[in-house]
Amino acid sequence: MGVQGCGKGTQAIMLARDYELTHISVGDIFRWNIQNHTKLAAQVRRIINEGNLVPDDVVEDVIRQRLSEHDWNYGFILDGFPRSHRQAQFFLESYDIDAVIHIDVSDEVVMERVLSRRLCSECGLDYNIIQHRPRVADQCDVCKGKLITREDDNEAAIRKRIADYHEKTAPLLDLFRHKELVIKTDGSLSPEEIQEDIRKQLRLSKAISKPEE
Ligand SMILES: [Zn+2]
Repeated sequence: MGVQGCGKGTQAIMLARDYELTHISVGDIFRWNIQNHTKLAAQVRRIINEGNLVPDDVVEDVIRQRLSEHDWNYGFILDGFPRSHRQAQFFLESYDIDAVIHIDVSDEVVMERVLSRRLCSECGLDYNIIQHRPRVADQCDVCKGKLITREDDNEAAIRKRIADYHEKTAPLLDLFRHKELVIKTDGSLSPEEIQEDIRKQLRLSKAISKPEE
């Protein structure tokens, strides 16, 4: 858990890769729907373009359906869920959770990171004009596609998401803390440092592997 832009997705991918976990990302599921022009996508697109969070019942349905596929051998890591008290209750009642990872990062850092995100309009590769610059400005290193900003990465939409996070999602950490599930890590560190800290706190032993090219 953590505000959007804290690096949840990156950390989830690193854990999933080395521990053979199924990575379930709410954002990815919604993005897939948008790319494939589904009915759900039309609804979701309108909501996020206004900078709002997708309503609880929609997110819950999507996650419930995704989890019903049971396509994991060693477990799953969820990214982007739960975001509300109701979703958290549903999740606690339905699944046996090993841990909740809280990536703590300041609003200012998140704002700076999200505003520097770019995406290749052709192949979908992520860039960051501060940390991961393309070799040629506004052009994808891999396919030469044009780099674009995601529609929902504008300042007003980000401020709204941060405010929503503090109001609705942050209090859930208390719910999970009561069950002694939460570990907290410093999201201002590098992705590798954060991952190492997570593994240390969860007493996981594997070294971080390099992503396959
Ligand atoms: Zn590309």
